[in-house]
Amino acid sequence: MTEKAAADIYLDNNATGAVARECLEAMLACLRPGIGNPSSRHAAGLRAKSFLQEARGEIAALVGARPQEIVFTSSGTEANHTAILGVLARYPHRRHIVTSTVEHPSTLMLLRHLEETGIRISRVPVDTEGRLDPEAVRAALAPDTALVTLMWANNETGVLFPIAAIAETIRASGVPFHVDAVQAAGRVAIDVTQVPVDMLSLSGHKLHGPPGAGALFVRKGFRIAPLLWGHQERRMRGGTENLPAIVGFGSACALAREDLEVQARRVRGLRDDLERGIIACFPAARIHGAGAPRLPNTSNVGFGTLDGEQIMDALDRHGVAVSLGAACAAGGREPSHVLTAMGLERRAALGAIRFSFGRYNTGACVERVLTLLPGILGEVAARAA
Ligand code: PLP
Repeated sequence: MTEKAAADIYLDNNATGAVARECLEAMLACLRPGIGNPSSRHAAGLRAKSFLQEARGEIAALVGARPQEIVFTSSGTEANHTAILGVLARYPHRRHIVTSTVEHPSTLMLLRHLEETGIRISRVPVDTEGRLDPEAVRAALAPDTALVTLMWANNETGVLFPIAAIAETIRASGVPFHVDAVQAAGRVAIDVTQVPVDMLSLSGHKLHGPPGAGALFVRKGFRIAPLLWGHQERRMRGGTENLPAIVGFGSACALAREDLEVQARRVRGLRDDLERGIIACFPAARIHGAGAPRLPNTSNVGFGTLDGEQIMDALDRHGVAVSLGAACAAGGREPSHVLTAMGLERRAALGAIRFSFGRYNTGACVERVLTLLPGILGEVAARAA
């Protein structure tokens, strides 16, 4: 069981997806003639600016926004930081934030840091399927709440929060609402003309764009203080824009929008085949969050008391890339905070593997995993015995 398979099967698209050929071509087309600074007034600058504005339009279109509502950032992490710190700086007398127990570390760790500086954080719990109750979010609001910040889709389980219902529920309070849509964008339909959120975080490398480009949607009329000062991005994010990465991001959004529903259906089919196959060969397996609405591409599977790290490593030796809980925490031996918030015991949480599909996965990937798994699970179980 040690030799590496020739063909790599990549099932870790929630960490980062392969850069689409269309994105690479768009990036090369903008780089090849030499790159200008979009803030410059000469021809090279104007050319760079037109690439930038085209990408801004594609990114805005994916979520129903207007181009001028998109602020480029370096990543989803920076978009989350800009939203949270930008609101706190704008409303310094508001000292309370509402969030959930299962946010991505880019939010979670910032909020933990802010707590040390005296900001009060209310973390609304999820149920055993990872679901969040809009009423519980409303009940957590305080007179000095600066922001509600929640993810649209969970990166580990794919569970979708009822963002539209939450937005409606808290609307009357007037509290700003930020949504981390890094995993949801391009995988489920998002339309900010229908859902009254004030800010929305996006990241290019989750939808087959390159790493290094993210964006924050900031609704027209909503103002935040910048994290980085400068004249760019309507003074909401200083620094020369990372044009090639942004162009790739724009192209990835256009690609995602083109066939979102077709891809969602296709990828859901693959994911469901994988889950059925896993249950057939290992009936004790548990699909975490299966009782909740989920992203079509994500499956978080518990293998009872078997050790997830050993399963992941064995799959890797056969050329199959998957993840243990959050990719950012891969290698750590602490159980996932998402799974423990859903009530899993430490041992069960350590047994979980995340399979996340993307545009380039096919039925052959599922077949290969299902062929390998019985042997791998048998080996891991024998080692534990
Ligand atoms: N938010 C969520 C839900 C994520 O899954 C991630 C990355 O995994 C991020 C934010 C951070 O995005 P980035 O990697 O672009 O910083």
